[in-house]
Amino acid sequence: MLQILINALRTGVVTVRYPAAQSVPPDRFRGSPVLRAGSHLPPPSVCPAGAISEHFDAAGRRAGLDLARCIFCGRCAEDPWADAVSMGRDFELAAHSRDDLRIEVVADDPAVTAPAPSRDRDAEAARISSEIHNVLGRSLHLRHLDAGSCNACDWELAALLNPVYDVRRLGIDFVASPRHADGVVVTGPVTRNLETAVHRTFEAIPDPRVVIAVGACAASGGIVGEGYASAGGVDRVLPVDVYIPGCPPRPEGILFGILVAIGRLDARRRPREG
Ligand code: SF4
Repeated sequence: MLQILINALRTGVVTVRYPAAQSVPPDRFRGSPVLRAGSHLPPPSVCPAGAISEHFDAAGRRAGLDLARCIFCGRCAEDPWADAVSMGRDFELAAHSRDDLRIEVVADDPAVTAPAPSRDRDAEAARISSEIHNVLGRSLHLRHLDAGSCNACDWELAALLNPVYDVRRLGIDFVASPRHADGVVVTGPVTRNLETAVHRTFEAIPDPRVVIAVGACAASGGIVGEGYASAGGVDRVLPVDVYIPGCPPRPEGILFGILVAIGRLDARRRPREG
């Protein structure tokens, strides 16, 4: 017992301070690709996930990137496109709609610059985090549902409960029953066999409720896509409130998405209370 106490004192506090303080991912971490307008951007055939698209108009060739599909493999940032694409380090990518995850740049035309994302993510996370108990008057309870994932996203979700990320310090917890939950966190593309379970879980959660799609498969079908065995993303089955890109997203990225979802829950509760 004494040795355990000594070890605990020697180890000190391991919990990260995110979102109160910005988190620095490890060097090997890959965030979303950054496309440089006016450069020789890669063709759609480069991307194994179908995240890159292109079309032509009066301005020239337009290249699109769908972050909901991207698996952050880094292939589009390799030679010969290394000058046009680099892998960023941003993990705060969650958005309320698929459209917010689509980036478009004009290639081969230096006169046209890429539209910059307008969200102030740091400010949004800090504001919502401080409001969590004001909104709910208690902890936020979420039900995790694996709808056919490879388990990578599930491991990152589980990491949220370990001493390093410890989401309970923010008043967020996971519960076993959907009847005790404020929302559902879905991983996986929703296999046809699990479609009914997804519907039933959603229906068992009291209204108002939020649906959070975690990872590329849940956000868009990802590398699995849509087919005889896969619905092709959670929004084909349920109304999704927050999409969290990544394959898998790192724990802070999931936490950021949950904080964004609290804002949506807040908006739904207020009319009822007013
Ligand atoms: S990082 Fe990989 S998945 Fe993402 S756009 Fe580039 S090639 Fe496609």
